[in-house]
Amino acid sequence: MRVAWIGLGVMGYPMAGHLVTRGGLEVTVYNRTASKAGRWSDAFRGPAAATPAAAAQDADVVFACVGNDDDLRQVTAGPEGAFLTMKRGAVFVDHTTASALVARELHGAAKARGLGFVDAPVSGGQAGAENGVLTVMCGGDPEDYARAKPLIGHFSRMCKLLGPPGSGQLAKMVNQIAIAGLVQGLAEAINFGMKAGLPMEEVIEVVSKGAAGSWQMENRHKTMIAGKFDFGFAADWMRKDLGICLAESRRNGAPLPVTALVDQFYAEVQRLGGGRWDTSSLIARFQNLDRTR
Ligand code: NAP
Repeated sequence: MRVAWIGLGVMGYPMAGHLVTRGGLEVTVYNRTASKAGRWSDAFRGPAAATPAAAAQDADVVFACVGNDDDLRQVTAGPEGAFLTMKRGAVFVDHTTASALVARELHGAAKARGLGFVDAPVSGGQAGAENGVLTVMCGGDPEDYARAKPLIGHFSRMCKLLGPPGSGQLAKMVNQIAIAGLVQGLAEAINFGMKAGLPMEEVIEVVSKGAAGSWQMENRHKTMIAGKFDFGFAADWMRKDLGICLAESRRNGAPLPVTALVDQFYAEVQRLGGGRWDTSSLIARFQNLDRTR
């Protein structure tokens, strides 16, 4: 089987690596910044190509994990895009967090060329990618998904087809909407407890075992208390994702008042210079307020 991978960022680099180390596959890679592709080639002994089209030449399955909708259009249907060279019947699997609209658009463009397209955004962050335990939410045609799933299994512990093209991206929006409100609630709770003079690590040890417990509470409370935000998914990326959610809500009519507010709070985090801080940095707004009072 010929496999190609486009986009060797924080997520794509280890995910593509697992196809080699766990899947025993030979993978041809493309990365816009060639030095990163060179590093990956040295580490995993797979060839690097100069364009997405060259990487995808005669491939059976092509994966991508790039930044946003426009990046994805460029590497698929652009003048040097993978759709030009993939062989008929091949499947394109997209792990970018993008809009449902672009997923449907590229699914249509792929079908017109006799190709399959599965939107397959992921959750689990850098650690999930490095440990090969991501959660993958998929949309597309069942026969294309069936071909992609065994390969996705090399870097995930949960993968499911949730409906027609775009459904994976819509499910990822559900995920991000749920996280946004939760992290803001946690930031307010920790800040409140600190203001009240409570020993917050001990408080969290207790309340995390009750109804308020969450992954974010377990994994982020210590660093939120310490004001350290270098642990994963960046505020800049979260704003991109929340923008996608808010645009979709204008189409489907689901109100997202808290998500819209938290999006503005992340804009404040960006203004504090925290664009690359992780999503738990919402608490930094309170710490900054204290400084400027
Ligand atoms: P990243 O480290 O910034 O990597 C982005 C990758 O996309 C790089 O390989 C970059 O190439 C490539 N790229 C961007 N624009 C391109 C273009 N126009 N043409 C070709 N290549 C292009 O980002 P990441 O953290 O891996 O995230 C990738 C995707 O996964 C995003 O959609 C993100 O929202 C999503 N995601 C991330 C996380 C996380 O925790 N990081 C978790 C879940 C989902 P260069 O090397 O040349 O810049």
